[in-house]
Amino acid sequence: MSLIVQKYGGSSVADAVSIKRVAKRIVETRKAGNEVVVVVSAMGDMTDELVDLATEVAPLPSGRELDMLLTAGERISMALLAMAIKAMGFEARSYTGSQAGMATDARHGSARIVEVNPTRIREAIDAGAIAIVAGFQGFNRGTGDITTLGRGGSDTTAVALAAALGAEVCEIYTDVDGVFTADPRIVPTARKLERVTSEEMLELAAAGAKVLYIRAVEYARRHGVIIHVRSSFNNNEGTLVVNPQEGETVEEAMIAGIAVDLGEAKITVVGVPDVPGKAAEIFTIVATTEANIDMIVQNVSAADTGLTDISFTLPMADGARVMQTLLNEKERVGFESLQYDDQIAKLALVGAGMRTSSGISAKLFTALYEAGVNIEMISTSEIRISVVTRADTVEDAVRAVHTAFELDGDDVAVVHAGSGR
Ligand code: ADP
Ligand code: ASP
Ligand code: MG
Repeated sequence: MSLIVQKYGGSSVADAVSIKRVAKRIVETRKAGNEVVVVVSAMGDMTDELVDLATEVAPLPSGRELDMLLTAGERISMALLAMAIKAMGFEARSYTGSQAGMATDARHGSARIVEVNPTRIREAIDAGAIAIVAGFQGFNRGTGDITTLGRGGSDTTAVALAAALGAEVCEIYTDVDGVFTADPRIVPTARKLERVTSEEMLELAAAGAKVLYIRAVEYARRHGVIIHVRSSFNNNEGTLVVNPQEGETVEEAMIAGIAVDLGEAKITVVGVPDVPGKAAEIFTIVATTEANIDMIVQNVSAADTGLTDISFTLPMADGARVMQTLLNEKERVGFESLQYDDQIAKLALVGAGMRTSSGISAKLFTALYEAGVNIEMISTSEIRISVVTRADTVEDAVRAVHTAFELDGDDVAVVHAGSGR
């Protein structure tokens, strides 16, 4: 018997009909002779709706209470799914994150898993039941408080359980047929990848391809879990995220895909004295906010003023906090002013083959120029090139770059459900 972990995203369990459809699929996997552990997300856009509700009653809701609220979403789906399976004559038991043994650190809203003790899940499957686990949640071992793993965190729950239970595969069921060369909602001609290396998937996830959550990919790579991203709306094979071993060669496409991130903002510190130590001062201040800053650009200083500008990108959600923290230190650092811009988008081209090919940046910049898209910032890693553009030009930019790198497929990619929120 093999043990399979299946994760169903919010778009796959959006209503009663979908829950019954998913229940049927789980039962079929069980009937085929597998042990099945299921991780489930909140129905449809429920998490977003709960966040909206929280900010209506309090402008800055307490982290502890927000986590308590949000974990309710996954509890609703897990119980409904267990009921639907039982109604089909199969034994199913649902468990919260804490009951499933997901111990985390204390960080509300972005807790990290520190240990997984799935004793009750083991007992359930040993007794022949299908175990259903609420995704995205755990408990702080110190205080016993409920925590959440960050948006998209159900993917991480699934991978962590797959690792702890020694599952054969971790199947991530969603509303598209797998990982594509670009978001099929933006590029209908995007092509499904049969395989993608975890290294490439990490870069794509980090750059905003939310089909898989970055921490899940990291966790899978560290623990050797095989991820299969596929659609819950058909039986097509999806995309395997593979972890090539040292020395193993995999055929590397030049470009794996393009990711877009519309969730970032840009802060420019204007009029910074161009003397040693200022960048250190500024980023030491920013570091106290624990915001995840990404691209950094420092302009050449104008010789007559001895002043320069420093810009960096960060998640929009951290924008107000970082602006305020910097503003508090304006006199001490001695900069002139701050500018905040949240109408930016980040486009990233990712591919392991970039390491060995040249001319990729030239081709990328030419495609953007021909599409009339202005580049505001550039950063590169070994297997990625990212650029910042205006948000309202990024969709045209992705399509142009997709075509320039000959990534277009013959079929139109199907998005089966979901609001894309
Ligand atoms: P779920 O509800 O299953 O968690 P998500 O909305 O989190 O689903 O992720 C699936 C969505 O990810 C797709 O509907 C698609 O719009 C988006 N997406 C972004 N980039 C990609 C990509 N490269 N390949 C496939 N889907 C992508
Ligand atoms: N429901 C949570 C979210 O929307 C977790 C998840 O779906 O993975 O972020
Ligand atoms: Mg998701």
